[in-house]
Amino acid sequence: MTEVADQFTEERAGEVARISHWIDGQRVEGESGLSGPVYNPALGVQTGEVDFASVEEIDATVQAARRAFESWRTVSLSRRTEIFFRIRKLLDEHREDIAKILTAEHGKVLSDAKGEVARGLEVIEFCCGIPELLKGGFSEQASTGIDVYSIRQPLGVVAGITPFNFPAMVPMWMWAPAIACGNCFVLKPSEKDPSASVYTAELLKEAGLPDGVFNVVHGDKVAVDAILGHPDISAVSFVGSTPIARYVYETGTAAGKRVQALGGAKNHMIVLPDADIDMAADAAVSAGYGSAGERCMAVSLLVAVGHAADDLVGAIQERLPKVKVGDGMDAESEMGPLVTREHRDKVASYIDRGRDEGATVVADGRETAPDGDGFWLGVSLLDNVKPEMDVYKDEIFGPVLGITRVDTYDEAVQLVNENPYGNGVAIFTRDGGVARQFQFEVKAGMVGVNVPIPVPVAYYSFGGWKNSLFGDLHIYGPEGIQFYTRGKVVTSRWPDPATSKVDLGFPQTR
Ligand code: NAD
Repeated sequence: MTEVADQFTEERAGEVARISHWIDGQRVEGESGLSGPVYNPALGVQTGEVDFASVEEIDATVQAARRAFESWRTVSLSRRTEIFFRIRKLLDEHREDIAKILTAEHGKVLSDAKGEVARGLEVIEFCCGIPELLKGGFSEQASTGIDVYSIRQPLGVVAGITPFNFPAMVPMWMWAPAIACGNCFVLKPSEKDPSASVYTAELLKEAGLPDGVFNVVHGDKVAVDAILGHPDISAVSFVGSTPIARYVYETGTAAGKRVQALGGAKNHMIVLPDADIDMAADAAVSAGYGSAGERCMAVSLLVAVGHAADDLVGAIQERLPKVKVGDGMDAESEMGPLVTREHRDKVASYIDRGRDEGATVVADGRETAPDGDGFWLGVSLLDNVKPEMDVYKDEIFGPVLGITRVDTYDEAVQLVNENPYGNGVAIFTRDGGVARQFQFEVKAGMVGVNVPIPVPVAYYSFGGWKNSLFGDLHIYGPEGIQFYTRGKVVTSRWPDPATSKVDLGFPQTR
């Protein structure tokens, strides 16, 4: 299996590999004639060409998943648990290989890629407890001689559509609970970095997952629309940008599907005057520039309250020249390139846009970008960002951190609460009372108190509010189990011939 990872990294240098679908337990070359390029962002060269699925290919995949569902749903909880423990073991043994694939196609540095795999593995560990998670309720003698119990059953074939920025972890958020609950899964990963999904599929097969339970189809809007319209897909999980999340939610639910669609973000980190400024500056630099700002939980805006502002800007400025930008395979690098040339150019354009709008450019990442053809951009810092500016309103999704100065805590909270996004938010303070007030009144789904990236652990659920999530249930954790199952309540009486009689009245509890 290590050779498989090499195929995605070293051995691939200089050649363009074909990246095919994974359907019914094997690689299947696409026949639509459509495909898209995959790059190594640090080198700026194309390393792969990924097949794009047609409507017919999506249908063939769904039919394979449907067939697999007939038997997968009958596999006992203990067998499913055994398979999940084997999946956990294999992914753990190959975490370095998966991380290398992520670095090769996404660009994030290897240590960060390993962190992504580790957080995804936590979701799989959670799913190893599936017998406990699927326990129903039982009420003996709900009525005389009658017991009532509740069970949760899988939905059937479910699909996941995922973004480029977590090519291994976000799919794990979906397929692991879906499959553990007894569903069969069709994954449509990002076309920008699709190889980790195919590699994962090979490992799942090796772990003993039956063919057809996990499938990978690549593609663009054609594939997504085919999934959203397919009558045999019961539920769709989506993670990506807000406009597409809204579209997926509206189209999928209109077609009668259960949908959870997680969207974009503009995460604020509030720094109060009593905060430990060094700690806040460390957190801001880590959470603002980690993974080149391409995280939905990245801090993209600092809200500095009162006299915290000057100290904070100074402390961040001191730290910026030390951030090592370079090839993610180099152990020294702390921040890699952006995912594509187009995205790098778009992110870089916000530096001039900010200046034109009246913000102060404290650091310009174009001046500190490494040389070479990679999709490089250094770290940028914009001060005096105002809420009416595009650099405040837009999700830039790159290493461009903004600072907005306000006078009071109330103004800071108002900014967060009026923002159309509500994914993550953080407050830095030493005052426990203020922190508690903040968690009570702030309108966001994930809140950090002196923690800049409050991604919930696997036994809670992940999700934002407002335009950061369309749907009712958050992803993974207990809400993930709920999403991928439906409830059934059984009312049962074992006949006692001695008491049996005809009774046409409405059944009442006794
Ligand atoms: P994206 O919305 O461009 O793509 C996401 C998925 O949708 C991909 O699989 C893509 O192929 C598909 N897609 C793209 N355009 C489409 C269209 N017009 N019709 C149908 N499908 C389409 O997102 P991205 O650029 O890959 O990822 C970055 C975005 O994802 C950011 O906005 C980030 O905040 C968000 N994100 C959110 C979370 C979260 O948990 N809320 C997590 C990670 C990323």
